[in-house]
Amino acid sequence: MKFWDNHTHNYLCNHAKGTVEEYVISAIEKNLCEIGLSDHFPMHLISKEANVEQWAMRMEQFPKYIASCQQVQKKYQDKIIVKVASEVDFTPKSFSNYKIALEPFLDDLDYIIGSVHVIDIDGVGERAVDSPDSFSLMEEVGSNIIYKKYYETNIKMVKTGFYNIVGHCDLPKKFGILPNEEIWEYTLKFLDAVEESDMAIEINHAGFCKPVATQYPDDKIIHEVINRNIPITFGSDAHESRYVGYGFEETYNKLMKYCKKQTSQLVFAKFNKRNIYFQ
Ligand SMILES: [Zn+2]
Ligand SMILES: [Zn+2]
Repeated sequence: MKFWDNHTHNYLCNHAKGTVEEYVISAIEKNLCEIGLSDHFPMHLISKEANVEQWAMRMEQFPKYIASCQQVQKKYQDKIIVKVASEVDFTPKSFSNYKIALEPFLDDLDYIIGSVHVIDIDGVGERAVDSPDSFSLMEEVGSNIIYKKYYETNIKMVKTGFYNIVGHCDLPKKFGILPNEEIWEYTLKFLDAVEESDMAIEINHAGFCKPVATQYPDDKIIHEVINRNIPITFGSDAHESRYVGYGFEETYNKLMKYCKKQTSQLVFAKFNKRNIYFQ
């Protein structure tokens, strides 16, 4: 099995290391058949109170980012397929402005990862669920409120029909506070929405390097995804080039074991100019 990595970053986002070329070289060294360059789209349109703008490149850098992706795509075309993409945030308040900001680039993008990092918590305001202070936020507000809101926001994101891949769909667990059973019905509602869409769900490997020490989403959710034949993609969410493709083989073997037991199949999705196709 030759793998491909749909989710990588680079130095432009201010919290990753290395150029897009270093990620492509790492993918070639790891014998991947394809790599998607998917750095964070600028976060300036999200409310200031969420305090996330510094986690992404500035708007004036985005055309240069696209150009550098296209450059390496051409340079390494004999060795690997390079897809040009972006991880774009969703918040209900910012979405219409994001659509406008992305409009000039849509023809350049092979896919858009729709990621919820910021949720609007009643009585608190807009907060990032993956920032270091989100652990205390979860203790303060209660994890149920955070998880419910997270899934509700993801459902809204899916229903826009604008995005192609759901990024890290159970991100609030990052610091180790897992959802309790009450949350499962919200997870299922979210999966219902994905099932009705043309989107794929990402199995994101960044969680292995975080306190939660497992992939997003967790096995129980992935099993439900497989049972419903929802297409999946593998993403390292690498913020350092050495993590490209990290853990894919182990995850693949784990999922194949489950599939054998269930006599079901993994449906792998790829994207080309924002159209889904299957592998
Ligand atoms: Zn990042
Ligand atoms: Zn993300």
